[in-house]
Parts: sequence; structure tokens; C-alpha cells
Amino acid sequence: MNLIWRQNAACQGLDPEIFYPATDDESDAAKRVCCQCAVQETCLEHALGSRERDGVWGGATEKERRRIIRQRRRSA
Ligand code: SF4
Repeated sequence: MNLIWRQNAACQGLDPEIFYPATDDESDAAKRVCCQCAVQETCLEHALGSRERDGVWGGATEKERRRIIRQRRRSA
């Protein structure tokens, strides 16, 4: 698995706890970082492809990623 994109991650060096909020309502801080991240799309696709269960990846919470997967299945 090629994870070289992580070298350009905006979350590098930040407190990982930001990206693992207790509820989706507390995910805004992580999303603000993600929306300025150069590798947001790659990060999101990685999380979708590897079925990451926890945390905010590519600006999406677990619940939002499940929704994306369902939408893609429906339109496939
Ligand atoms: S999109 Fe968010 S979680 Fe993914 S690498 Fe960028 S800052 Fe980190």
C-alpha cells in the first residue's frame, strides 16, 4: 500500500485526538483542517477503500463515508 501521500497531510504533527471526535457533531475542527489539505481526496479514497471505521478521513466522518459507499453502490 502506497501511503506516500501522507507526507503532504495537513494533519501531520497535529493532535490525533482532533480526528477522532466522540460524536460527529464534534468533527468540525478536523474538517477545517481537512478542507485545507492538499491530499484530501486521496485520503478520503484511502479511507473508503480500506474501510477505515473510526475517525475523520478526507473530511468525512465514518457515518459520512458509509453514506458515500452506499451512494456509489447505488450508482454503480
Ligand atoms: S484530509 Fe484530513 S485526515 Fe486526511 S491527510 Fe488531510 S488533514 Fe489528514
